Amino acid sequence: MADEFNDINQFDIPDDIMDEIQKNIEDIITGFPIPEDNKLDVIKKINFMYSRSRYLSLTDALTGLYNRRHFDNSVEREFLRSKRYGGDLTIAIIDIDFFKRINDTYGHLCGDYVLKEVGYLILDNFRKTDLVFRYGGEEFVVLLTETSVGGSQIPLERLRKSIESYDFNYQGTKINVTISIGAAPNTTDNINDFLNNADKALYRAKESGRNNLVLFE
Ligand code: GH3
Ligand code: MG
Ligand code: MG
Repeated sequence: MADEFNDINQFDIPDDIMDEIQKNIEDIITGFPIPEDNKLDVIKKINFMYSRSRYLSLTDALTGLYNRRHFDNSVEREFLRSKRYGGDLTIAIIDIDFFKRINDTYGHLCGDYVLKEVGYLILDNFRKTDLVFRYGGEEFVVLLTETSVGGSQIPLERLRKSIESYDFNYQGTKINVTISIGAAPNTTDNINDFLNNADKALYRAKESGRNNLVLFE
């Protein structure tokens, strides 16, 4: 995430608009008594504050992952793009098993610790070109670009196993954590069905005993 924070291109601002913003900033600060030598520093600071506020609006404070708002924008863009160019796209919904029990047994701060670690393990598991979001509560979503649902099996199964075997340790207490995953391909006519199919697969993964991956096919 730190690298992305410095990468203004992630926000999809076209170069000509960036130039316009830069010019407006220069016009604004011209009206203030800032010594000529300091103007560049002031412009840099304003640019930094702007990218920081953009960053905060797209990410989740607890895990640092992209948030639900950014998911809503990204899923539409990626789905339409995959349809237009005929590429594969798979969505995976990841839900922590019996998370309420973790909160109830060890407390909310421990729950937060588990969420942060799981978020990190998910991010670490996928390619740079895949997009990882905290969808809400203890649910995460991954958009696997240029990946068929069959092709998603290996990285998703690897993730499931890595969480099952990870040493979650909160203030000296060992905690067992597992996840259930539902994944679906972009073969639907619309985005709602695309999401619903992944939800159905997740429901089956829960029903079949949890700590499972189910692919919608
Ligand atoms: P299942 O295996 O069926 O998914 O069971 P579950 O207990 O994980 O599912 P449920 O949806 O009943 O519980 C989710 C819990 O997640 C309830 C809520 O208190 C907790 N939760 C949501 N957001 C946060 C958060 O930011 N921090 C903490 N500590 N807990 C959270
Ligand atoms: Mg849930
Ligand atoms: Mg859950």
